[in-house]
Amino acid sequence: MKRQYASVVVGIGAKALDREFQYAVPDSLQGQIRVGSSVSIPFRNRVIDGYVTELSHTPQIPVNQIKEILGLKEINLSVEAQLVRLAGWMREHYGCTMLQALKTVMPVKENVKPLMEKKIISLLSEEELDHQIELIGAKKNQRARLRLLTALREDRELPYSIALNRLNLTSSTLKPLIEAGWVSIEEMRVSRTPLELMERHTYRVSLNEEQTTAVKTFADAFTSGVQQTYLLHGVTGSGKTEVYMEMIEAVLKQGKQVIVLIPEIALTYQTVMRFYRRFGDTIALVNSKLSKGERYDQFCRAENGEASIMIGPRSALFTPFRNLGLIIIDECHEHSYKSENIPRYHAKDVAAVRCELAGASLVLGSATPSVSDYYRAKTGEYQLLSLTGRAAAGSSLPCVEIVDLRQELLAGNKQIFSRRLRELMDDRLEKGEQIMLFLNRRGYSGFISCRSCGKAIKCQHCDVSMTVHRNHRMVCHYCGNNHPVPKVCPSCSSPYIAGFGTGTEKVEQQVSKMFPQARVLRMDMDTTSKKGSHEQILSAFAAHEADILIGTQMIVKGHDFPNVTLVGILAADLSLFAQDYQAGAGTFSLLTQASGRAGRGNIPGNVVIQTYNPDNSSICHAATQDYLRFYEEELPYRKLLKYPPFFHMLTIQYMSEDESLIGQQLEALAGLAVRIADENRWRMDILGPADGSISKIKDVYRKVLYIKALDVNHLEQMRKELEASVRTDKRIQISYDWNED
Ligand code: ADP
Ligand code: ZN
Ligand code: ZN
Repeated sequence: MKRQYASVVVGIGAKALDREFQYAVPDSLQGQIRVGSSVSIPFRNRVIDGYVTELSHTPQIPVNQIKEILGLKEINLSVEAQLVRLAGWMREHYGCTMLQALKTVMPVKENVKPLMEKKIISLLSEEELDHQIELIGAKKNQRARLRLLTALREDRELPYSIALNRLNLTSSTLKPLIEAGWVSIEEMRVSRTPLELMERHTYRVSLNEEQTTAVKTFADAFTSGVQQTYLLHGVTGSGKTEVYMEMIEAVLKQGKQVIVLIPEIALTYQTVMRFYRRFGDTIALVNSKLSKGERYDQFCRAENGEASIMIGPRSALFTPFRNLGLIIIDECHEHSYKSENIPRYHAKDVAAVRCELAGASLVLGSATPSVSDYYRAKTGEYQLLSLTGRAAAGSSLPCVEIVDLRQELLAGNKQIFSRRLRELMDDRLEKGEQIMLFLNRRGYSGFISCRSCGKAIKCQHCDVSMTVHRNHRMVCHYCGNNHPVPKVCPSCSSPYIAGFGTGTEKVEQQVSKMFPQARVLRMDMDTTSKKGSHEQILSAFAAHEADILIGTQMIVKGHDFPNVTLVGILAADLSLFAQDYQAGAGTFSLLTQASGRAGRGNIPGNVVIQTYNPDNSSICHAATQDYLRFYEEELPYRKLLKYPPFFHMLTIQYMSEDESLIGQQLEALAGLAVRIADENRWRMDILGPADGSISKIKDVYRKVLYIKALDVNHLEQMRKELEASVRTDKRIQISYDWNED
């Protein structure tokens, strides 16, 4: 047997060790060790773990210096060689260590026992079911049981894992229902083919003309072997999901697999079941609530060919499919697709590289794609697919009105509801239709500021304002630090301090006062901190257990409530977005998505946008749901100020508890960058150092350096040269951030 050598990344996260070391594969393990295997190796008189990134027969150092691998760690699931290559790209592009990159793409981080849960919950009898649901519905402590029975009324059989996870049930919820003979738990039949399921659910929408064109364009290209990136631009409710499902069908027919990314917050029971009803047990599902074992199980199903469609948030990107044909990124404008941890990768960029390695196609879908993505579609880099109208029969885009809050004040109305919004709320409550109220801020009344010196009270550990809650405490939403509202201003000791702005809690209180008959639900970070509460609030609202849902931006994401006919946006100006170049796009997208919640059934909807800036163009174009106008106004601004898509932009961030240290270091780095650019005659703008958009979080300071360049290759090279020149300092954490939107 010819001697085999493995290149191994050692499992120690030091930058100095960020390279491959060669080890010999013992004869007994040949054939078992693969690229991506986790192995034990001798390293500096210790035994540590490492990851195999390459196998060859060529020793790179004298053979007598090469040590042997000690053992293969018992991991059944090996990362595909492709994923290791993807990790290699991430190291180069984002400037992290290979170990960090590998840990990001590894399907499992620890050795866990596989679960292989294959159970199904079935409804045993439909007799008296409605009556039973009514009975349980009247009891407050049986909500979970109610959710399950309501779901079973619709579907009769539910996969155990989806039900437990997405409906937030426990086995103790099930027990009394089993004992009373309502449901049973069985092993799933071995071959639940999608065909069988399709028969059960004979109802299928027939696609409209635009949907058909989109699907055909994709499918024709796909079957003739063309791989490319598509932008599916469709207004809210235009039937993008139906289009995805047809595209998936075309890919499965070719024996290939599909990854569907959906933002965590939109990954509801409702969404998952749409895919399950269509594709049955060929879907696998991951989300942040899964335990390691459950997650491992799902990845196993993908690797061994049992599942062909993986649905999940950002991390589903690394599903070990062997024959990947398509990645779909739904709501591709969502900020949650960008990782907050190092490597700070964007799902879109990594997906593009994975598709290239696999020979797969990429579909990006959104009602409000980023300006740069739309530009790429317009200029031919992507293929554009458009859906311009709402899909469901009788559903049309809502009628949107903008209310000028300054006029309200002049007319003597100091309430948080304008006269128009109030009038419409009265009307809907009378008709028994539902209302969503959207506010960009949680807490009781925004922040507290001093009327004498004008300063807002900030967290001692973070550079953000404290938010007031009903119990008369102030909370920092970044670090959780909280204490009672002080009696005097901490800056000038003036006693005249007051809450400023409105929070969700206060809105809830006002609603209860003005509309005492209305049943109200509130959804924000405070009411959803408990596991499963997010799903619980949404399903309660869907079941019409409440008339009004009040919430922060988490209520705007892709939910489909056909009975909602009024959306009120209480203060369109309180944009969450930092004052960066994407502020306009962020506001436009948020308002468009929020407005898009109204009138999705066959009763037309109204939207009221309250604002102090009725002439702001992002707000106006969101009101008319006019993406193209917004885009056409935004583009020249991007060009003039040298932002994406015209310029490429890299943000280098230094973080440390020592503020002056990172100030000095970044200053030096800026000087170096200027020199490198000059020497190479690269056209670049180097800006900073400056404070990060939030300059301090949990006592850690953040400073940034921005580099903008016309040519992305120059910028890549610049990043590498800067990285190579930086001496590692344990006190500083460095991240490289690409802005491509
Ligand atoms: P989007 O993802 O673009 O917001 P969805 O795919 O959720 O839109 O579709 C919105 C609603 O329209 C859903 O209730 C869906 O079942 C329905 N729908 C989609 N396509 C059609 C069609 N061709 N005919 C009838 N109803 C449709
Ligand atoms: Zn003061
Ligand atoms: Zn804080």
